[in-house]
Amino acid sequence: MIPSILPTYNRAPFAFERGEGTWLQATDGRRFLDLGAGIAVNALGHAHPALVAALTEQAGKLWHVSNLYQVPEQQRLADMLVAETFADTVFFTNSGTEACELAVKMVRKYWYEKGEDRVDIVTFDGAFHGRSSAAIAAAGSEKMTKGFAPLLPGFVHLPWGDHEALRAAVTDRTAAVLIEPVQGEGGIRPLPDQCLKGLRDLCDETGALLVLDEVQCGMGRTGKLFAHEWAGVTPDIMMVAKGIGGGFPLGAVLATEAAAAGMTAGTHGSTYGGNPLACAVGAAVMEIVADPAFLDTVNRKAGALRQKLEGLVASHPKVFETVRGSGLMLGLKCRVPNLDVVKAGYDAGVLTVAAADNVVRILPPLTISDDEIAEALTRLDRAASALAA
Ligand SMILES: *Cc1c(COP(=O)(O)O)cnc(C)c1O
Repeated sequence: MIPSILPTYNRAPFAFERGEGTWLQATDGRRFLDLGAGIAVNALGHAHPALVAALTEQAGKLWHVSNLYQVPEQQRLADMLVAETFADTVFFTNSGTEACELAVKMVRKYWYEKGEDRVDIVTFDGAFHGRSSAAIAAAGSEKMTKGFAPLLPGFVHLPWGDHEALRAAVTDRTAAVLIEPVQGEGGIRPLPDQCLKGLRDLCDETGALLVLDEVQCGMGRTGKLFAHEWAGVTPDIMMVAKGIGGGFPLGAVLATEAAAAGMTAGTHGSTYGGNPLACAVGAAVMEIVADPAFLDTVNRKAGALRQKLEGLVASHPKVFETVRGSGLMLGLKCRVPNLDVVKAGYDAGVLTVAAADNVVRILPPLTISDDEIAEALTRLDRAASALAA
């Protein structure tokens, strides 16, 4: 008999009832250190006082009105994002997938308005852009697309890291290139800064729009507000979600004025997107995460965590191969099945998240303390020892 929850997930056999900072308490009383943060969503940990205050204050005033009206909380968050980024304009969604939908539509409309028949969007192996029809067509992996044909046409899939294939594929017929600066689901694969710079140049040469998916790597995760800032280049369009709501469902598409030119009244919409409740929380997240002093602490902790993870790999060469990633978006490439490592972590009281390429993701709240980093390593070491035994 089918369960009352559609069984599209293989779930761990426990549930949580409370969270505080980096800690989660299970219904059976066990306490877990959370190095997954709801897959890079709880950027400020669980029950952060500033977010609880923003949510409850707004909840007592106004939840939802509709985009038929002015929404001051939405305006405020849009202004904050525009002030802190390359973008001139923002559309709010409820998820990363919806951000992908709009990014694709925006690209297509851009070229339509120019009167040019450029529809192809170049994407990469290992990519993840969400689970809608457009997003699975964009990523193109067999795992996500099998059985869901016909897929949305107009995507060109390239291998990751093949510069020649990229040069050959991106021409003055290409509509856009869509890429994650650090692949998340694909196994924590950072795009080297030089490559992102080269990609920007290639887009400038050909006119193709550069669309960055910073749903997972954005919002302070790599130690800059957005990961592309490390390379010193900017996109034309950017997808954001996950960390931007700190756990409240919120996403966004950020764009330059030129890239967004086709998106006039009536061309896109969302009932919930940008509602006062989500935007009040989003603004509270932005106030903390966009602060350079906060990003400094992320970078310092990232350095400490990475160094300790290198040590973990060195002491368990049968379990782990390498550490990779950027900032607090780290991956342990495993020699044993990554799901075994995640399970051993459960037994040791630490939560991690599996990814493709046999990687275990370490995506703690950006607020993780030095003591918690030390405790996390103790628990990961315990998990690795149990596996090696
Ligand atoms: C999670 C994710 C998405 C999809 O976001 P949802 O909120 O799950 O729809 C898209 N792109 C990337 C890079 C992601 O990590």
